[in-house]
Amino acid sequence: MTNMTKTITLPTVPREFGLYINGKWVAPQGRNLFERRSPAHGVPVTRTIVGTESDLNIAVASARTAFEDRRWAGLTGQQRAEVLLKAASLIRERAEELAMLETFETGKPISQSRGEVLASAGIYDYAAGAARMLHGDTFNNLGDEMLGLVTREPIGVVGLITPWNFPFFILAERLPFILASGCSVVAKPSDLTSATTLIMAEILTKAGLPDGVFNVVTGSGSTVGEALSHHPDIDMLSFTGSTAIGKRVLAASAGNFKKLSLELGGKNPHLIFADAHLEDAVDGVIFGFCFNAGQCCVGGSRLLVEKSILPKFEQLLTQKLSRLRVGDPLNAQTQVGAIVNEKQHQIIHDYIERGLKQKARIVTQGTMSTSAEGLFVQPTVFSDVTSDMDIATDEIFGPVLAILPFETMEDAIRIANDTIYGLSATIWTQNLSTAMRAVRSIRAGRVWVNTTISGGPEMPSGGFKQSGIGRETGLYGVEEYTEIKSTHIALGPRTHWVS
Ligand code: NDP
Repeated sequence: MTNMTKTITLPTVPREFGLYINGKWVAPQGRNLFERRSPAHGVPVTRTIVGTESDLNIAVASARTAFEDRRWAGLTGQQRAEVLLKAASLIRERAEELAMLETFETGKPISQSRGEVLASAGIYDYAAGAARMLHGDTFNNLGDEMLGLVTREPIGVVGLITPWNFPFFILAERLPFILASGCSVVAKPSDLTSATTLIMAEILTKAGLPDGVFNVVTGSGSTVGEALSHHPDIDMLSFTGSTAIGKRVLAASAGNFKKLSLELGGKNPHLIFADAHLEDAVDGVIFGFCFNAGQCCVGGSRLLVEKSILPKFEQLLTQKLSRLRVGDPLNAQTQVGAIVNEKQHQIIHDYIERGLKQKARIVTQGTMSTSAEGLFVQPTVFSDVTSDMDIATDEIFGPVLAILPFETMEDAIRIANDTIYGLSATIWTQNLSTAMRAVRSIRAGRVWVNTTISGGPEMPSGGFKQSGIGRETGLYGVEEYTEIKSTHIALGPRTHWVS
């Protein structure tokens, strides 16, 4: 029987997890526990420790010791690569367990979770290669009596705060790169979705990662996340989440001038030119705003359509949306699962109300379930949206699309860039010049042409403007976690300063 045909059942008893510090579990018995319920079914699925500032301090001290004694930073790239390759193979061995936990906690479809877990294993493979590629530079042009070396060193102890929308995949886009560089890590996953990050810690120990190099402290953002971002012994912080909390983290980093890597919100445009292959574009647009139930930072939630094709495009979009399968994430045929929690469900509801109140034209209005039925939202599409409406400016993080018509290329680019964000953009046209003019003019960290949300660890990811700072993945993603040191070496006799 293949994975795709296995029947998944909900746990009868929630699975309990401890913290993971210095290569060992800190037992959950006797601790204050957070119970996570499946957002699609309402039943308890996991329990994790509500970590405290003192747990965090122990984890940071453990990561600091592991960094300073060079048990990991002092290894060769090949030795680090061996651990990462072994970790990738252990992820594949435990893929079904990881995928189930991911679906139970996030509400995303099981087929998607399986895909994300296997893709994550591939990222650990890639980062293993990157550990061996990391190198510096030499300057042999400083004259016969001087040699210049530029070396890269691991930056130190890294704090890693991850969100709930892609818990295991976003971890994979950061952690193996940080480890490849030789750093030690203290991670704080979202309290809604901590299970797979904790299992990853166990996997890394089994793969041979020395104790203390990767530590996980679960708990709330307001306690553990705040303490991590203020901690004087954290050298760098990687944060993925909302722009609002990104700003808090930025302010907190001032205490010890932590380096930051921030991947924040987006309000990403799709640009559809009249010559686009419309059926492909419609499919891409639906994927862009419905994938992960719209809870995707790079998903396309603004649709800029050339006016001449707007009626035709809306018709194709409505027809195809009616065939989208929204429902139980445990069903292998489901394409769109549940919304992560009631708060997020309510945010989406409120934005749809605001769209109606601000007189955007409704193209399709999806129904919203009650929390007793599971937290589902059918896709909603508004048209004739103007740039001043809330549904055009704000990151909603749900399956809600705002259509803004345009007449000229200049119009399209102006509207596309009329946002505080700059995470991604997607262009649909069959004309190469049109595509390249748009690519060059759009201010975003990732741009897709005639495809959307394509990825892979080779390419860097990150945002322009208020969508973030720094880049993750690719060789850039390893270099981000290094400090650069310049060394001058005198080769000849010294010309004395004092005679
Ligand atoms: P947050 O930005 O609050 O959460 C992201 C991560 O930061 C979580 O691990 C969270 O922990 C942690 N965190 C929360 N508060 C602090 C703090 N004061 N200091 C340090 N870390 C903190 O996102 P929300 O979950 O509240 O979602 C709100 C909105 O953010 C969404 O509607 C969406 O628009 C956007 N978002 C964007 C994401 C992206 O990928 N760009 C991902 C998630 C959300 P905990 O969850 O345990 O509180």
